[in-house]
Amino acid sequence: MDVRGLIEGVLAGDRRAVARAISLVEDGRPELDELSAGIYDRTGRAATMGLTGAPGVGKSTAAAGLIAHARARDLTAAVLAVDPTSPLTGGALLGDRVRMQDHATDPGVFIRSMATRGHLGGMALAAPEAVRILDAAGYQRIFLETVGVGQAEVDVAAATDTTIVVMAPGLGDAVQMAKAGILEVADIFVVNKADRDGAGEVARELRQMLHLGAAREWEPPVLMSTALEGTGIADLADAIERHHTWATTAGVLDAKRRARLLREVETLAAERFRETASTVLEAAGSALAEDLAARRVDPYRAAAMLVEEAARA
Ligand code: GDP
Repeated sequence: MDVRGLIEGVLAGDRRAVARAISLVEDGRPELDELSAGIYDRTGRAATMGLTGAPGVGKSTAAAGLIAHARARDLTAAVLAVDPTSPLTGGALLGDRVRMQDHATDPGVFIRSMATRGHLGGMALAAPEAVRILDAAGYQRIFLETVGVGQAEVDVAAATDTTIVVMAPGLGDAVQMAKAGILEVADIFVVNKADRDGAGEVARELRQMLHLGAAREWEPPVLMSTALEGTGIADLADAIERHHTWATTAGVLDAKRRARLLREVETLAAERFRETASTVLEAAGSALAEDLAARRVDPYRAAAMLVEEAARA
């Protein structure tokens, strides 16, 4: 594969190159080392937003509204929809969403769903690299939409500059959210489907829960929206902008970005180490099993030996 050409394509903002590069990420291909090295110094310019919440709350509809808002301000935008828990979805996830179709032919918008097929470390590693590809390609606003409210989804959504939690009446309550650790990582809450009964109640319950928590430098606003009609999207976009400005001036954004890069490196290194370790273990296989069974070596000592050997490998 011509990775050099692919890198040039991505840096030039060529859509097909961007799509192919993200496929490399999905597949966890070895070419990623070269790709990452080739694009990294062109990243860090985009503002990234994570949209998380239960299926059906209106994340895609809200994202489509935010794209329209960005486009009206001449900003390019990309949406990446990821399903961290299921490697089998992806593909048609976003493409058939009616609202997204509004942007399908706009050259300033890139929309893509992503699944991981055997990527080391799963979505926790795939998502940030895919976001960097979009960033390097010049997209100025990048929305990372996750499906579901489990820990993996929350982790992925939290790995952005601004984490937006979307809720809707009848679809997962605040208690569930609190359990998933969402209250701590959310920068903005949106109660969507404000046209439905119970939306106000969801917002009230949420504000109460936030009030019970420890005071924070940034108090996450609880907004209401009817994304289907575009109501509340401008307020959401304003809140995102406000959060970004605050996080930048307070130094929080820089610290957050640094911390998540270190976490990513750690995960990446751990995955690589795990691979090496299992190769070493496989080679040592039956002899080591023999030593363990005969009580010549204990498991802790064996693990220490494995670590040493894997480090040398
Ligand atoms: P996602 O799964 O969170 O991405 O949710 P979608 O954006 O796909 O929306 C799920 C469904 O809710 C779709 O049928 C939308 O048309 C509908 N929907 C989205 N926003 C609203 C809203 O504000 N009010 C109402 N009544 N329906 C909405």
